[in-house]
Amino acid sequence: MGSPWETQPDRAISRRRAMGLLAGAALAACAPRPPSPQPPSPQPTAPQPAGEEPVDTEGVAPEKGHEALHFQRMAGGLVRCDICWRGCIVAPGERGFCGTRENRDGTLYTLLYHRASAVNTDPVEKLPAYHVLPGTNRVCIGTAGCNYRCLFCHNWPLSQRPLEEVEPLDYTVEDLVRLAIATGCPSVSFTYNEPTVFYEFMLDTARRAHELGLLALSHSNGSASDVAWRELLPHLDAVTVDLKAFCEKFYAQVSAAELAPVLRALERIRASGTHLEIVNLVIPTLNDDPDDLQAMCRWIAETLGDDVPLHFTRFLPAYRLERLPATPIETLERAAAIADAESIQFVYIGNVPGHRRNSTYCPKCDATLVTRMHFEVLEYRLIDGRCPDCGHALPGIWGRQRALSS
Ligand code: SF4
Repeated sequence: MGSPWETQPDRAISRRRAMGLLAGAALAACAPRPPSPQPPSPQPTAPQPAGEEPVDTEGVAPEKGHEALHFQRMAGGLVRCDICWRGCIVAPGERGFCGTRENRDGTLYTLLYHRASAVNTDPVEKLPAYHVLPGTNRVCIGTAGCNYRCLFCHNWPLSQRPLEEVEPLDYTVEDLVRLAIATGCPSVSFTYNEPTVFYEFMLDTARRAHELGLLALSHSNGSASDVAWRELLPHLDAVTVDLKAFCEKFYAQVSAAELAPVLRALERIRASGTHLEIVNLVIPTLNDDPDDLQAMCRWIAETLGDDVPLHFTRFLPAYRLERLPATPIETLERAAAIADAESIQFVYIGNVPGHRRNSTYCPKCDATLVTRMHFEVLEYRLIDGRCPDCGHALPGIWGRQRALSS
């Protein structure tokens, strides 16, 4: 996705190793454990005994596919997929634009159910979600495929290659949520590639995560259809959306996509009450025009509200834009100053380790509330989501962590 650091891990957690962790959790469950200071407290259920494969009662084997949600049958065996704004009309035997949904005899199948290709644990700051249980880890889940064609994609080996060229890890829904419990992660997150393309797998994993007291987070390009967002949002606690530019031309030429559906999605997410953060990857010469940045910040403040966290992240040369330089830090600071002038309260600069805008400040009294070095939390001072100095409440999911330095 848009965060240059949220890349496919070099070494994903293999399903075999995950089964070992789950077996370890089974042993650990026998021993008394101190209470966790980081809510929400997952309610562990009995993990599978070592050596036994978890039984999946919902899906079917990945090679057989899994019937997709939200498609319509049309004349001549055609189907229309309504998962994202593209609304692909898919002929029998063909796949949609994302290459992950196939028309088999007039029925649409997702080829990604129980077919993760990247699973890891990482800080929530890498999502980035700075206002969601800072300093905690989450289980990160990605698959093959994408419905965009971003020239700067940092995860192109996952997202931009044919499905058959991307190794599956074959985790089930149950494996993923139990991995989160076994590794002490209070959340699962859908990231690396666009989660909309593995919508059914994401939806079921998010539902199961909630049943077990885990949070469900998503990093998305915002392209899901209205019907998909309506169904999904009640099962997500936070969504980080890439707002790649405030310019239709950029979306068309750099990402083979459209801006308008993303703006609609941002409004829908905001109205739903699900926590929202926005990422803008600033790419030299392509989307760093100060007028466009000002228009974007003004739209965010006026339409979504001035308390939506906004992350300007540094572009690093990648994929088909390797000829471009990394974003100058002054460009990011100028973007942040523009956001300040539009009264946006939480403006971050990402992918610049040690920058003062890695941290969270109180918008009322300017106290430092969460001190970060890149995505590491060095100090945490919020108490029940409030500034300890002036009592101002911050938007987000904070839990009751104590100050890390105390
Ligand atoms: S998810 Fe989007 S790109 Fe993929 S088949 Fe459906 S409408 Fe097309």
